[in-house]
Amino acid sequence: MSAACAWITHADCRLHEMGEGHPECPERLDAISDHLLSTGLMQLLVPYDAPLATIEQLERAHTARHVREMLAAAPAEGYVRLDPDTSMCPGTIPAALRAAGAVVLATDLVMRGEVGRAFCAVRPPGHHATRDAPMGFCLFNNVAVGIRHALAAHGLERVALVDFDVHHGNGSEDILAGDERVLMCSTFQRDFYPFLGDEPLGPNMVNVGLPAGAGGEALRAAWSTQWLPALEAFRPQMVFVSAGFDAHRADEMAGLRFTEEDYRWVTHEIVAFAERCCEGRVVSCLEGGYHPFHLARSVAAHVRMLAGL
Ligand SMILES: [Zn+2]
Repeated sequence: MSAACAWITHADCRLHEMGEGHPECPERLDAISDHLLSTGLMQLLVPYDAPLATIEQLERAHTARHVREMLAAAPAEGYVRLDPDTSMCPGTIPAALRAAGAVVLATDLVMRGEVGRAFCAVRPPGHHATRDAPMGFCLFNNVAVGIRHALAAHGLERVALVDFDVHHGNGSEDILAGDERVLMCSTFQRDFYPFLGDEPLGPNMVNVGLPAGAGGEALRAAWSTQWLPALEAFRPQMVFVSAGFDAHRADEMAGLRFTEEDYRWVTHEIVAFAERCCEGRVVSCLEGGYHPFHLARSVAAHVRMLAGL
């Protein structure tokens, strides 16, 4: 098995934009790639272009109605509003299909042993998109599409999802709760958007709400007292990560106080667990993170650990 780390993205992921001043903007990806290029980290990764997700792949995580409605809603010009924070432009569907397709490709590459791990530098993000609806900057649940692909196309029986975005991954929980083949572990800021997660929707959910102001010590405690025991009992064959970096202390979207070092640390723990449990297989997917400078550095810390550097 290769120890290399794939870097999966596509130029189409820049085509989606939701208007002047929206924090979930194409420049997020520019900040990340500029930083990885200038630090020399990019040349240590194995680049791939994300394919378009197929309808069949999307419908493993979403209702046929949701997929049909999203594809039909795309405007020829201007914007179509989906919720108060989320809209579509003419470039949204190509971006969204590449974002979900990236996680499918990542799964295939890691399962075939072509790379050891993979990071999907994609947008729009996905973890708020439910089985039947878009929500909170998300249209399709990229990571859930990848998880269901691992189960359906590669015959895996147990897959874990770790979500450290500052917002609860309510869409992933909506899709995956009750699916005994999946264990989802998440941290999120309590009493904050999307105001869900306090009551887990299934026994396969390990939801750890953190109070505003909590920092890296709270993440470490969640890992050692809740996530790791659940992961060790579950023994996944592959680990997916919803890698949101909006819990960073400088990110004004929310009120947690994580640092680059915390993202380095938690990624090291995830990789070390995967090495012990499932031949090191980790597929990570970008979710939130809205402070370009610290987003770029947090992703670099994360990817460096994925690549074993
Ligand atoms: Zn978020």
